[in-house]
Amino acid sequence: MTALDFDPAGVALPLGHYIDGARVETAEDAIPVRRPSDSAVYGHVPDGSADTVDRAVSAAARAFARSDWASRPPRDRARVLRRWADLVDADAPALARLEAVGSTRPIKDALAWDVPFTAEGIRFFAEFADKLGGEVAATRTDQLGLVIAEPYGVVGAIAPWNFPLVMASWKIAPALAAGNAVVIKPSEMTPFSLVRLAELASQAGVPPGIFNVVQGQGRTAGDALARHPGIGKVTFTGSTRTGIAVMRAAAESGPKPVTLELGGKSPQVVFGDVPDRDAVARTVFGAFTGNAGQVCVAGSRLIAHRSVADELVERMAELAKALKPGPTWDGSTTFSPIISTPQADRVDGLVRGALRAGAEAVIGGRRLAAIQDGAFYEPTILRNVAPGTEALDEEVFGPVLTVQTFEDEEEALALADHPSYGLAAGVHTADLGRAMRAVRRLKAGTVWVNRYGRTADFVIPTGGYKGSGIGKDLGRQAVEANLRHKSALVAF
Ligand code: NDP
Repeated sequence: MTALDFDPAGVALPLGHYIDGARVETAEDAIPVRRPSDSAVYGHVPDGSADTVDRAVSAAARAFARSDWASRPPRDRARVLRRWADLVDADAPALARLEAVGSTRPIKDALAWDVPFTAEGIRFFAEFADKLGGEVAATRTDQLGLVIAEPYGVVGAIAPWNFPLVMASWKIAPALAAGNAVVIKPSEMTPFSLVRLAELASQAGVPPGIFNVVQGQGRTAGDALARHPGIGKVTFTGSTRTGIAVMRAAAESGPKPVTLELGGKSPQVVFGDVPDRDAVARTVFGAFTGNAGQVCVAGSRLIAHRSVADELVERMAELAKALKPGPTWDGSTTFSPIISTPQADRVDGLVRGALRAGAEAVIGGRRLAAIQDGAFYEPTILRNVAPGTEALDEEVFGPVLTVQTFEDEEEALALADHPSYGLAAGVHTADLGRAMRAVRRLKAGTVWVNRYGRTADFVIPTGGYKGSGIGKDLGRQAVEANLRHKSALVAF
C-alpha cells in the first residue's frame, strides 16, 4: 500500500459530450470503456454521430462569432487561460485519478507529470496570446501595409490515448490562445479526462462553446469532425495511417491546414566513446520502456557501436528486473499496461514475426501473464532482427527495442535514417564534431544529443519529418499554426 493507491471503482466519471459549456447526454449507442490494467468495463461514452459533431461545431462557430473570445484584449484571454491552468493544478488529485484509472498512466506519473505538465503547457501558450499580432510591412510612406494575424475560427482536434491530457492540451491551448474555438474528439479508449478539462476551462471563464468535447469512434465521429465544412483547421495526433485518412477527409470540404503529429521509429545511436555507459544504458532503457513504449518519440531502435552493444544490453536486462508492472491505481507501479488487449496482441504479433524470422529475444518477448486480465507486455530486447522484419521497420508502440551494431559513423547514420519515419533521434557521443554532424544529417524533427526525451522547455517545438507528420506541436510554431494572415494596404 502507498499513500497514492486509490479504488478505481470510486472515481466519478464525467459522462457524455461537452458542448456549449455543459455536459450533454444523448440517446446515442453507448461505447463500453475498458481499463487497460484489468480489462474491466468501467464506464460508457456516447457513440457520437455526425449530427452530434455538427451540433458541437455549430456551437463553436456561434461562440466564435458571438462571444468576445477572439476580439477581447489578448491579455484578458491569457488571464483566463492562466486561471484555467491554476484550476487544473488545484484539481490535480481528482484529475490524476481520472487520467490514471482508464489509461496507461500510473497514478504516480499522472500526479507528478501528466497533470502539472498539462497546466504548465497551458500557461506557456497563454503567454503567446498578445505576442503574435502581425507586422507592419515596408511600403510607400503615403500608405500603410499591415499583416494581421487572425484565428481560423473553429479548430477540429483529434487526440490519442497514450497521454490523453497532455497530448490534447498541446492542441487545445495554442488554438485557444490564438483566439479560436475548439472541438476535440478524444480517443474512445481514454475519453473522460478531457471532459473534466473542459469543465475546468468553463470555470476559468472560457465562454460556452469555445471548448467542446465530442465522444465517439475515430472512424465515425473523428472522420465527421475532420471533414466538417465548419472547421477552419484540423490538428491530429495518432498513427501515420489514420493521419493520412484525416488529411484526405479534411480536404474534401475544401482546402484547410492540417497539423499531423504521427508515428515514429526513432533511433538511439550510441558511439563507442561514451564516458558513462551505465548512464547511457539507463537513458536508452527509459526511452523504450516509458509508458510501456506507447510514446510517439519512443527510442525503439538501439544502434550501438560494436564495442559497447553487449554491455548496454546486459545492463538494460538488469534494469528490466527492477520495473514494477501493476495496475495504474497502485502507487508503487512503475511499468505501464498496454492500452488494450488487442493492442497487446498486436505488439506480440510483431515480436513473434521477428522471432520466426530468426531474431533472439534477450529479454521479454511475451505477454506478461503474472497480472491477470491486464494488457501488459514484458520489456523486450530483440537482437539479430532480419532486415525487412516488421518489428524493425514499423512502429510497435510497445516496450520493444531492436538492437543493431555498426563499425563507423557513416554506417551508424545510414542505419539511423528510416525510409519513412523521422520523428526523433538520439545520439550519444563524447565527440562534439560527430554529434553536430549527426544533428545535421539525421532527417528527424528532433535530435537529442547525450539525452533522450522531451523536457519542460515548451518553447522547443515537436513534430516529425517524412511520414512522422506535418507542422509542430509546442513552441511558437504551434501558436502560429493556429493563426492565418490577412494583408491590408491602407492609402491615406
Ligand atoms: P489511431 O491513429 O487510429 O487513433 C488516434 C486518434 O484518431 C484516436 O482519437 C482515434 O479515435 C482517431 N481516429 C481513428 N480513426 C480515425 C479516422 N478515420 N478519422 C478521424 N479520427 C480517427 O491510433 P490507434 O489507436 O489505432 O493506435 C494504432 C497505432 O497508432 C499505434 O500502435 C501507434 O503506432 C500509433 N499511435 C501513435 C500515437 C502518437 O503519439 N504518435 C498515438 C496513438 C497511436 P478512436 O481511438 O476513438 O478510434
